[in-house]
Amino acid sequence: MDFEFSDDENAFRQELEAFLDAHASPEVMDRNPEQLSQTVDTLPKRGLMAGLAERGWLGMSWPAEYGGAEKSGIYDFILTETLSRYGAPQPGKGVGIVGKTIIRHGNERLKQYFLPRIIRAEVEFAIGYSEPQAGSDASAMQLKAERDEDRGGWVLNGHKIWTTSAHFADWYWVGARTDPSSKHNGITVFLVPMDHEGLEIHPTWTIGDERTNEVFFSDVFVPDDFVVGEVNQGWKYICEALDLERFAMMPVGPLEKKVEAFCDWVRESERDGAPLRKVPRLRSQVAQAATELEVARMLQRKVIASAVKGGIPTVESSMYKLYMNEAGKRLADSALDAMGPAGQLKPDTEGAPLNGRFERSYRYTVVDTIGGGASEIQKNIIARRGLGLPKNF
Ligand SMILES: Cc1cc2nc3c(=O)[nH]c(=O)nc-3n(C[C@H](O)[C@H](O)[C@H](O)COP(=O)(O)OP(=O)(O)OC[C@H]3O[C@@H](n4cnc5c(N)ncnc54)[C@H](O)[C@@H]3O)c2cc1C
Repeated sequence: MDFEFSDDENAFRQELEAFLDAHASPEVMDRNPEQLSQTVDTLPKRGLMAGLAERGWLGMSWPAEYGGAEKSGIYDFILTETLSRYGAPQPGKGVGIVGKTIIRHGNERLKQYFLPRIIRAEVEFAIGYSEPQAGSDASAMQLKAERDEDRGGWVLNGHKIWTTSAHFADWYWVGARTDPSSKHNGITVFLVPMDHEGLEIHPTWTIGDERTNEVFFSDVFVPDDFVVGEVNQGWKYICEALDLERFAMMPVGPLEKKVEAFCDWVRESERDGAPLRKVPRLRSQVAQAATELEVARMLQRKVIASAVKGGIPTVESSMYKLYMNEAGKRLADSALDAMGPAGQLKPDTEGAPLNGRFERSYRYTVVDTIGGGASEIQKNIIARRGLGLPKNF
């Protein structure tokens, strides 16, 4: 496997870095990024996305007929990773999940309406799969979609939970049950404007201080044109999109920045007049963190290698997400252990080491191991699809 970028790929990375240096502002870049924190939730962040779009850097791997540059997926990877290292927002959901699924399965109306808007960064999406009784097993979703033949569409009623972005997104990419008699072949994906009459959004705050949402549907009508692909085939599209999400929304950049911060803190700090860098246990923790970061990078490259060859990297994505999220949790654990009681001080508290960065990380990394599919579910995927183990043994 060749890990070096080509001259053209390197030139793109440098051009992108120059653009981000020129637009570095605390309004759009989080100096302490966490895995799931890089959403496009403010106007200045939308502005940055529009700047990327103007330069043709969104959807570079899309077909030319939809505004893409037909470049290899390596360019999307370079974009995502570079943005994440700068703490900039990520274009993942529109370009990576909704756009790619519409290209594969969407009707002409959806292609014409959404693809140009996605590639020009004019539209943000929220993704609605989880429900109170359908989390790890999202295929148990019960949001009801009933046929309205007279109006040529579907009427949606029910309740979603954990919908990140619902409070600022323009469109809702949502799964609903169109056939109660079949679990996996009874789900359809719909696109609904987020300000549609009958949709109610309530905040849910996570332990990591991020907002996600509950969304209630009361008689929300969706015309047939806004059904994604075939009726009752939504679960297939959702599984494909979940594989893309684990990869597209999980850059390694935030972990890299945290490992760097921890190493710098150990290198520069003292306790009782003695430099921490000489303490054997801390040296070993730094070495462990740096090694785990390298393993995460390699697992990520396996995902990229498989995706670039045109595959859907299901098992590779699960291995990467599981390892990277658990490594993030171990790093926060190590850092708080090394920092002693002061490590528990919250961000912006006087005396908090690294301004409380690892106190927040300690809380946030728990969320990472749940969002996008819990660690136990990743293990199940690796066991069954990767190792061929039976469901019950
Ligand atoms: C911050 C955040 C953002 C999110 N954003 C979105 C979003 O935008 N859209 C969306 O649709 N969802 C979103 N989710 C939901 C997320 O996908 C679910 O929380 C996740 O899939 C787990 O589901 P659950 O919370 O219902 O837990 P449960 O499924 O009830 O699981 C509880 C525990 O049991 C374990 N478990 C469950 N089943 C098994 C099994 N078969 N084998 C072994 N262990 C098992 C789980 O690993 C977990 O530890 C988000 C979640 C979080 C925390």
